[in-house]
Parts: sequence; structure tokens; C-alpha cells
Amino acid sequence: MKAVALGGVALFATLLFGVFGLIAFVVVAAGGAGSASAAVTVSNPSEEALEDIPPILLRLFIAEAQQCPGLPWTVMAGISKVESNHGRFAGSTVGPDGVIRPSIIGIPLDGTSGTARIPDSDDGRWDGDTVWDRAVGPFQFIPGSWRIFGGDGDIDGIADPNNVFDAVPAMRRHLCPDGQIVDIASAVFSYNRSQAYVDDVLEWARRYTGPLATSAVPIAGYALVVPAALVTEESLSRAHHDYAAWDLGIPVGTPLFAMASGTVTTASNAGTFPDDPNRCGTTVAIAGVDGAAYTYCHLSQIAVVPGQVVSAGTPIGLSGGQPGTPGAGNTTGPHLHLGIRFAGTTVCPQPLLLAIYRARPINPAIAPAFGCVQGHPTTNWAQWLDQITPEQPPSPVGAVAAGATEGP
Ligand SMILES: [Zn+2]
Repeated sequence: MKAVALGGVALFATLLFGVFGLIAFVVVAAGGAGSASAAVTVSNPSEEALEDIPPILLRLFIAEAQQCPGLPWTVMAGISKVESNHGRFAGSTVGPDGVIRPSIIGIPLDGTSGTARIPDSDDGRWDGDTVWDRAVGPFQFIPGSWRIFGGDGDIDGIADPNNVFDAVPAMRRHLCPDGQIVDIASAVFSYNRSQAYVDDVLEWARRYTGPLATSAVPIAGYALVVPAALVTEESLSRAHHDYAAWDLGIPVGTPLFAMASGTVTTASNAGTFPDDPNRCGTTVAIAGVDGAAYTYCHLSQIAVVPGQVVSAGTPIGLSGGQPGTPGAGNTTGPHLHLGIRFAGTTVCPQPLLLAIYRARPINPAIAPAFGCVQGHPTTNWAQWLDQITPEQPPSPVGAVAAGATEGP
């Protein structure tokens, strides 16, 4: 294995996290219930972040941090910067396959030069050293930590600490063993027990944080309409109460995002349903470049204007729906109502949302109009998606006509 030596403060700190991080993980895992209810804010990258962080890593940090409420992607990027200058230590680079070449491998952990003393535990598989363990990869996992947190993120059959598709999720698991983070500084400290290291990482995180509030990460031209950490496959699949649409109970003030790129056609308090304008309340509607029309109801704040061109993931406003508040419309509690029409037909948003959540969006043209209304036979959208190829959508199971009326 070609390797470059890594030394200095970052390595020493990494050794400490390797030794102590294991203990911390066991304790937390024993009591970790795992809840994804914390608020999520996604910062846009600063100009410095866009210049400094390889795009492949930037995308991974932003997507992966959304799996852990309370973990800003900028903190993951800060760790990456401090550990290996984003995989560029001593001239290494990250390839399009996510692999760092040459491999970044630390000095032997033989107890000298301020290192811990860790006899070989991986038979030299990752660190090329059959006598002592060494820290490996852009985030400097020692083989013992990699055995706990490592995984095969790109499903190529190898959990490789030198592959960022594998190593970024591993970093997130290490930072976020119980599914959410309350105190960012202690999370970084548990990753690496050095206050100087924590200060360094948080300073980089601050520099990487852009001025804009929130946005979602588009994948293949589509983005979830709410922060990904607020939804599950179950909530994305849930049937609507009266016609083909989707409701999600979320706190007032949750950022909402454009699901597809397109042009804003409505951004007003007037609603979009002429027969009963109060039902939708404050409304944003977008004519997607994919030919679909997306309608968001019950907003508490609008962030776009009619005629504005938006790209998938752009913030369009904040959710609302608290009964009796301005713009809430016809509602029984805070929630987002999402309706999608294609070629004049109201279609089920559930399979489209679930496909985006799985990072493999499908075209609204193949979304069924039936199978997503309570009290009628409903489709198991997870199974439906498992079966489809984009060319051949299966028929919804037990399809029946949804109610003809429109309204949230
Ligand atoms: Zn609704």
C-alpha cells in the first residue's frame, strides 16, 4: 500500500479519541433511545467552503449531517479540515470514486513521539503495518475505531476508511451515536479529547457557514420539501385524509423547500382553490420544469414572489397551520399540506417524496393518482418503489377513485 506519513497535533489528538472514543460509545449506546425530533437548520456553504472543500466531500457532509439532528454539516467539514485538509494531506487527492490516493496513514502508534501504544490489531490490512496500528484515511480512524464505526457506504463490498463514501457516514456515527446531538462542543470533544482540537474544528465550522438561512440538498433535480431529519419512510408514505395529497405534522416555522426546480406561480394569502380560498391559507405554488405543479398550504411565512425562478431545495417559506393564526387556512393543527398535479390530474406525492428520500427521484409523470387516501385501499409505496423501473411503473394496489373535491 502506498502511504504518506501523517504526524503532529492532529494525529496525537486522533490517538486520544481512538482510545477514549470507544469507551464513550459503549456508554452512550447502552442508554441511547434515538430520537429525531430536534430542530434542524441547514446552512449554505460560505464562499470559503465552496473554494476549500472538494465538492464530493461537501455533498456528503451536507447529506450525512441531516441524519443527525443537531449536527451541522460544517462541523463534519471542520473535522475533515483539521484531520487531513480534506484528504489533501501531503499531496493526496480524493478521486471520483471517493478513494483518497495515496492513502493517508499516520505514524506507528508505538508509544513514542507522544503517541499511544496500540499493537497491531488489523494485521496491517488498513495501515500496512503488522507491528503497530496507525491512524488511516482522511478522518484518521485507527483500525480499532474503524471496526466499530466503519461501514460500506457506497456498497462496493469493502468498508474502506480511505473511501469518503464509507468514511463520512462513519464519522457521523462516531459523532452521533444516539441519533441526535444537543451539545456540539462535547460531541467534537468525544471524537477527539483535546480542547484545542475542538476549538480548531469549531472555528473552521464557523468559517464554512454561509450567510443564508436554510436550504435543502437537491439530488438529481429534486429535494425533500422539509428537512430530511423530520421525516421517515413511514411519515412520507402516510395516506391523506380526503383526496390525493400529503400532510406532515411539523412545528410552525419549519423551513420548506422547493421540491423541483421551476417558477413560482402563487405566493399569497389567497389560497389556490377558487371554490374555497380559505382552505389552503397562505399558499406557495410552483410550476416545475418537470411539468408538475406543486402546491404548499398553511404557510406562516413566504420567502418567494410570483414569477421567481427557484431551483430544487430553495427555501420557499416557513410552515404554519396553527388554527386561528394568519394564513393558517382550514387546519386542525400545525402541518404542511402538499399537493401535486401532473397534466391536470392530482397525483399521490407519497411515492415521489419517498423516492427523493431514497436519493433516487422518479418523474411525477409516473406517479399514480390513487392509493394514497385514507379509508380507501392504499398502496404500500415502499414496495411499489422497490418494484418500479422508471420506464414501467406498476399499477397501484387496490386503486379506487379518490374524492373529486379539492381542498387541504
Ligand atoms: Zn392536507
